[in-house]
Amino acid sequence: MNSFKFENTSSFSKKLDNKDPLKNFRKEFHFPKIKKNKECLYFCGNSLGLQPKKAKEYVNQELADWAKYAVHGHFEAKNPWYPYHEFLTESTARLVGAKPSEVVVMNTLSVNLHLMMVSFYRPTQERYKILIESSAFPSDHYAVASQARFHGLDPETAILKLFPRKGESTLRTEDILSCIESEGKKIALILLGNVNFLTGQAFNIPAITQAGHSQGCLVGFDLAHGTGNLKLELHKDEVDFATWCSYKYLNAGPGSLSGCFIHEKHLSNPSIPRFEGWWGHNKHKRFEMKPQFDPMPTAEAWQLSNPPILQMAALRASMELFDRATMTALRKKSELLTGFLEHIIVSLESKSIEMITPKNPQERGCQLSLKVKNGKTLEEKLKNEGVICDFRAPDIIRFSPVPLYNSFQDVFKLGQLLKKYV
Ligand SMILES: *Cc1c(COP(=O)(O)O)cnc(C)c1O
Repeated sequence: MNSFKFENTSSFSKKLDNKDPLKNFRKEFHFPKIKKNKECLYFCGNSLGLQPKKAKEYVNQELADWAKYAVHGHFEAKNPWYPYHEFLTESTARLVGAKPSEVVVMNTLSVNLHLMMVSFYRPTQERYKILIESSAFPSDHYAVASQARFHGLDPETAILKLFPRKGESTLRTEDILSCIESEGKKIALILLGNVNFLTGQAFNIPAITQAGHSQGCLVGFDLAHGTGNLKLELHKDEVDFATWCSYKYLNAGPGSLSGCFIHEKHLSNPSIPRFEGWWGHNKHKRFEMKPQFDPMPTAEAWQLSNPPILQMAALRASMELFDRATMTALRKKSELLTGFLEHIIVSLESKSIEMITPKNPQERGCQLSLKVKNGKTLEEKLKNEGVICDFRAPDIIRFSPVPLYNSFQDVFKLGQLLKKYV
């Protein structure tokens, strides 16, 4: 990878596209159109993934079966609704490196962050802190602070934040590990956003998890920007829990469902508290409608409600593509695609642009974050040229070349526009 020689030319980008074993997946997605019906250059998969063309068919199937069967659709629909979430289990497990019993798709992300903290943030007098990154996503800040208050704690003392060193934008693994070592006995929960939404930094999951465990902490990850982006091994790495959304890299549509991972060692442990609802109850006896809760022996025990089938249908259309492409192949292309964008950005030699995402491909996903003077203006100029990316105040522009549907020519064309405007 490091020895790979990129050339910032159109013919070189075409050559890479021709050799790309995943090139046909692009045709499976709808790209927004800009003037003269030209397709946009989409670099915003970190925020909302494109619509798989098959999503409509999947959703329509459930609408048709709802019309045809009404309540009997729970058992008689082509894809019966009663076990519908199970249709996602195998592919979700493959996606994050888990056993099928360890994953479930349910609710939305911030809701699941809270449900996971109900189970895995159990502060005591001595051990009560939550360790997060200073640039965590706002919802994660709000979630941990409100959890601390819920336990009668002051977030000022209960929330421990990891800050980059002065003059640096991202965290050094050594600093994260040394903080865990020095503060570990007071930390109840380590909860990091991986990939970090703002900087694009990917944390070292096995090293952080191991360091946390050696201090007796529980370790969870918010994988909103990691699932479908990084090659994850949650079971092997012994992560305690993780949760993510499916509308970013998983392309399941706006506001779509969240996925949850709970490590096998915590399943069926009656000492772990949990907020419970009927969909977590033993599925064979759910309709006996007994008041005594009999939990599923899997991550499904954390389910509360019967799930939204239409939204799950859209997710199924996307998961089929991940199954066909495989995360291993996607990640391989992703390193090349993002490496190409990095090469182009570096060759601009612009003083008004600073890439804050780590240069080491092992410390990032597909997203590159640039600190740009007048970033909002640049984003608007690019938008007028048909580039969709995003700006985060005060000065960050994020570009995410997504290996499932972006091409090397997309990246080359973006580079030409950047050259024109910076
Ligand atoms: C996108 C994102 C969220 C959004 O949460 P929702 O509950 O799905 O609205 C939360 N946390 C992180 C880290 C995110 O990237």
